[in-house]
Amino acid sequence: MTFDECAAQALMEITSRPPLVFVRGEGSWLWDHTGKRYLDFVQGWAVNCLGHSPPAIVDALARQARRLITPSPAFYNAPAMQLARQIVEHSAFQRVFFTNSGAEANEGAIKLARKWGALHKAGAYEIITFEDSFHGRTLATMSASGKPAFRDLFEPKVPGFPKARLNDLASVERLVSAATVAVMLEPIQGESGVLPATDAFLRDLRALTRRRNLLLVVDEIQTGVGRTGRLWGYEHAGIEPDIMTLGKMLGGGVPLAALAATEGVSCFADGDQGGTFNGNPLMAAVGCAVMAAVLAPGFLEGVAARGAYLMEGLSHLSARLGLGEVRGRGLLAALDLNQAMAPKVTEIARDAGLLLNAPRPNLLRFMPALNVSTEEIDAMLALLEGSLHSALEP
Ligand SMILES: *Cc1c(COP(=O)(O)O)cnc(C)c1O
Repeated sequence: MTFDECAAQALMEITSRPPLVFVRGEGSWLWDHTGKRYLDFVQGWAVNCLGHSPPAIVDALARQARRLITPSPAFYNAPAMQLARQIVEHSAFQRVFFTNSGAEANEGAIKLARKWGALHKAGAYEIITFEDSFHGRTLATMSASGKPAFRDLFEPKVPGFPKARLNDLASVERLVSAATVAVMLEPIQGESGVLPATDAFLRDLRALTRRRNLLLVVDEIQTGVGRTGRLWGYEHAGIEPDIMTLGKMLGGGVPLAALAATEGVSCFADGDQGGTFNGNPLMAAVGCAVMAAVLAPGFLEGVAARGAYLMEGLSHLSARLGLGEVRGRGLLAALDLNQAMAPKVTEIARDAGLLLNAPRPNLLRFMPALNVSTEEIDAMLALLEGSLHSALEP
């Protein structure tokens, strides 16, 4: 198969892509149109929690597609009911609404918080979010995001998202007013470079929001469903938020996301929220398969153990090559290169057969499948070290 330049031109340009077409995937491995094989530590952007085309997901899709693809969101379907039950049974929340993307889940969380403010807080609508945060690409979620590149895009933004500084409680307190209804954050800022909210900050934020009668919304689109070695990222801090959003790994590669809330906060009236594909049984059946795998005995312990193994390997490598900090939790890790060579390293690594992500010019991010093996981590570290040596050569 050759690369079809004309067909590539038919796609709207939204990012610079290498002239490769990925045609097949299996576990931690991807193959391009020339037959070349790559070890994949991007995994669909932290999405394929069980790797590429795992049998559990292929079977769930095939079985459900034969039975029922969608009856319409105006009727109950069994997979959506079962998946909602699974999430409720294993979380601090009692109600779930399914969406087709993370941004749409966050959009729903924003609407739910505003509705709650209209009903219970005299129309308070402001949601305090954080500098450098990422919540999605709809107009409201871009407005909620603190990503500097979004600042001047698509003006005017949706109002009502004052920005505080992560791990700085005073910066949040200064923004609280009668108009404030909620505080929303990622337990670990993913897109801005794997920057964790500390457990102490999350606990302080929970205490502050309770004291001031504000909702605490956690965007767990990157940290939820086992990525950090616990089912949800907020568990590490021992807190219970009011609203949580999920995406990425919930569908294990298919478009599935969700908004979960406590009973007291679930105040949508009929007609306030919906969507044609929301909670369709085809995607929900995959979500059930993902949850069953992640909740299987020993799975999350394995994520934590291999996450520690990955972090230790990266730390040794960083020490040997005189690079910077290694940070993260579970199988969401980052290596600071201390210099703006991350895009060059990802290119060299790709040529060598390793797919990596550079969320910042100086930073590499690692988001393998949650069932990645220690042998695959070793293979990644070896390919990475070679690529770093090449990049560091004068
Ligand atoms: C990826 C991501 C989103 C957006 O999800 P989409 O499915 O791309 O809309 C929102 N928040 C966080 C923390 C994310 O990592």
